[in-house]
Amino acid sequence: MYFNETHEAFRASVKRFVDREINPNMDEWEEKTVPLHDLFKKMGDLGFLGIRYDRKYGGQGLDYWYETVLLEEIGHIRGMGVPTAIAVQTNMATPAIAAFGSEYLKESYLKPAITGDMVSAIAVTEPDAGSDVFAIQTKAVKKDGYYLLNGSKTFITNGTQADFLTLLARTGGEGYHSFGLFIVPTDLEGFHVNKKLDKVGLRSSDTAELFFEDVKVPEENLIGDDREGFIYQMQQFQHERFATLPGTCAAVQDMIDMTVDYLRQRVVFGKPLITKQVLRHRLAGWVTRNEALKQLTYHIVRKKMEGQDATKEVSMGKLLAGQLISEVATGCLQMFGGMGFMNETLISRYFRDTRILSIGGGADEVMLEIIARIEGF
Ligand SMILES: Cc1cc2nc3c(=O)[nH]c(=O)nc-3n(C[C@H](O)[C@H](O)[C@H](O)COP(=O)(O)OP(=O)(O)OC[C@H]3O[C@@H](n4cnc5c(N)ncnc54)[C@H](O)[C@@H]3O)c2cc1C
Repeated sequence: MYFNETHEAFRASVKRFVDREINPNMDEWEEKTVPLHDLFKKMGDLGFLGIRYDRKYGGQGLDYWYETVLLEEIGHIRGMGVPTAIAVQTNMATPAIAAFGSEYLKESYLKPAITGDMVSAIAVTEPDAGSDVFAIQTKAVKKDGYYLLNGSKTFITNGTQADFLTLLARTGGEGYHSFGLFIVPTDLEGFHVNKKLDKVGLRSSDTAELFFEDVKVPEENLIGDDREGFIYQMQQFQHERFATLPGTCAAVQDMIDMTVDYLRQRVVFGKPLITKQVLRHRLAGWVTRNEALKQLTYHIVRKKMEGQDATKEVSMGKLLAGQLISEVATGCLQMFGGMGFMNETLISRYFRDTRILSIGGGADEVMLEIIARIEGF
């Protein structure tokens, strides 16, 4: 009902790429981290990094349905570190450049991000400010021809490999109108990657702590107005949060499929485990909730296609996705028994990787707060 032949042909090409170029490398990348320049160049050559972006900058000029197809198919990657790294490039660090950036920024940063010649990262979170974005302390002070940047950012995905950061900093002024969103090239003097962080999951992606000491960011690297960065970032978060939904549906389905295969062949008390009604019902409940999440996702796409605001639905989807994917990963691992706790069993990777979804990009409680506010209570 939602996808036509052209969508399905596109889906097949992304699937082929995932099966050939990504999944066979996942075990190695879990150990060594995904080499993003290499991967993004290949994806850029195939047009996968600029689905919705203007053809003028190397994009495909397609719509949200095609973006959904891409996000669904990268959701089938065997582990969530690489889909996260890709989504940073397509849905987290670049939407604000496309929406509010100058021609110069689009030519110099959006275009190479789309072609895969540059790796990007989104730098909002700081050691003392995560959920409360308003509390960030990194400062960009306007000087003659540049902004002087001082501060630090943490938990930055793609942070050790990025060529540029889309970075939120305080610029002075009142209330929410006191932030600028900047494109910060990582070869500027005064920028340091303090360290690559050691994480529970998403081990194939790199996550870094970054420092800025008197970094001179050229004034043309400011996105839009230097008082409106907070507003731009709130809009950019909508693309980020939406990006988690299609991939969650795909990963939940994959976890269920691999668990059903195991339950069919694992004999306990003289019968395959799949014959136990309590397990079959648990699986059926997850399939049901995953279908509901998928339908909410498609409803959001329809709203976006109509140009309607979908903040409430995206927040609901992000909340549901984080809760469902963690429950399914934990529950499926339980059904694998001791084998589920072995690193050689793929479900153990999902168990580690899925936990972040209820925290990153706005924790569950932040989503609930947004929903409550929109509901008016
Ligand atoms: C692997 C990983 C990758 C990340 N990638 C990036 C990135 O690329 N760029 C970037 O900028 N950031 C990134 N982050 C940061 C992420 O977005 C933050 O961790 C997240 O927003 C939560 O912020 P915090 O960690 O400071 O938790 P805190 O803000 O300290 O919150 C702690 C907990 O308190 C609860 N809480 C928060 N607010 C409320 C509330 N209003 N009511 C009730 N409870 C509440 C929540 O349960 C929350 O988990 C990443 C984080 C991780 C772990």
